[in-house]
Amino acid sequence: MSSHKASAVAQGSGAPASNRETDTLELAELGPLLEEKGKEGLPTPPPKLKKSKPEEEEEVRVLTLPLQAHHAMEKMEEFVYKVWEGRWRVIPYDVLPDWLKDNDYLLHGHRPPMPSFRACFKSIFRIHTETGNIWTHLLGFVLFLCLGILTVLRPNMYFMAPLFSWFFHTVYCHSEKVSRTFSKLDCSGIALLIMGSFVPWLYYSFYCSPQPRLIYLTVVCVLGTSAIIVAQWDWFATPKHRQTRAGVFLGLGLSGVVPTMHFIIAEDFVKAITMGQMGWFSLMAVMYITGAGLYAARIPERFFPGKFDIWFQSHQIFHVLVVAAAFIHFYGVSNLQEFRYGLEGGCTDDSLL
Ligand SMILES: [Zn+2]
Repeated sequence: MSSHKASAVAQGSGAPASNRETDTLELAELGPLLEEKGKEGLPTPPPKLKKSKPEEEEEVRVLTLPLQAHHAMEKMEEFVYKVWEGRWRVIPYDVLPDWLKDNDYLLHGHRPPMPSFRACFKSIFRIHTETGNIWTHLLGFVLFLCLGILTVLRPNMYFMAPLFSWFFHTVYCHSEKVSRTFSKLDCSGIALLIMGSFVPWLYYSFYCSPQPRLIYLTVVCVLGTSAIIVAQWDWFATPKHRQTRAGVFLGLGLSGVVPTMHFIIAEDFVKAITMGQMGWFSLMAVMYITGAGLYAARIPERFFPGKFDIWFQSHQIFHVLVVAAAFIHFYGVSNLQEFRYGLEGGCTDDSLL
């Protein structure tokens, strides 16, 4: 462990030195290029009415100097960007700045801070600790978007949460401020996803009983909004409060137990399974709870630190389970909706709960 750390630090501090060397080399190569470009890029001075030679020279120099400096600056900027985007290497956990330190069981393969959104988005195509997190939600988002289009844009908010989460994981390495802002958006997205998945389920399950439907919908909206408000506090996204975070989302999800019980008692178990799609919703709940549990406990990387740096870390498993659970939910709600709009699903006096 200690030898690993030592080598990690050596690697981390070695990289910038070699970068500096290549920087100066490349700058030296760029020198003549800059001059050439500077000359080419200069606008030809406007034709002047007869002027004395020293006067002309003086004017050209006044015009060209700032322009040359401007071109040189532009080139330098372009060059720095090129180096910045193309040359970065993954770094070990120990050398990450504090605001990028999230999971100390992932020992290697982290992105360095990259204060350019372009570089962050380009890093989607590189292999590092966030690659799996980025792609699981990006693909989830695309699938939901297709599903939304296929089902004639049935109103659903599912695709919003993977979108927020994808943004967060992509730009997380940008800077402390950006990572903090997007982690809030990520947490709010999860709360919105849970709340959004409750709304259609409660609406169609208690289709014929407006009073409990109103009460449950109000409760879930109040709880969901509270979770979103809590997610805006800076401490909420810190690694120290990982358990609190998982607890808030779990609590929000588990608030569904009361309406589920109500439904099973009021209808009966068989009807709850067939018409109420309870089997699907239970599977969804199991997936969410497993995902949140793995996320909070950081399993499996906790037992094998350094072995799940790139693939199969708890966060990725959590992502996959969330996307799969949301699909199951979509299927369950579609069946429930179909039933309610069908011949047997309408409300009669004796069907009122
Ligand atoms: Zn995530």
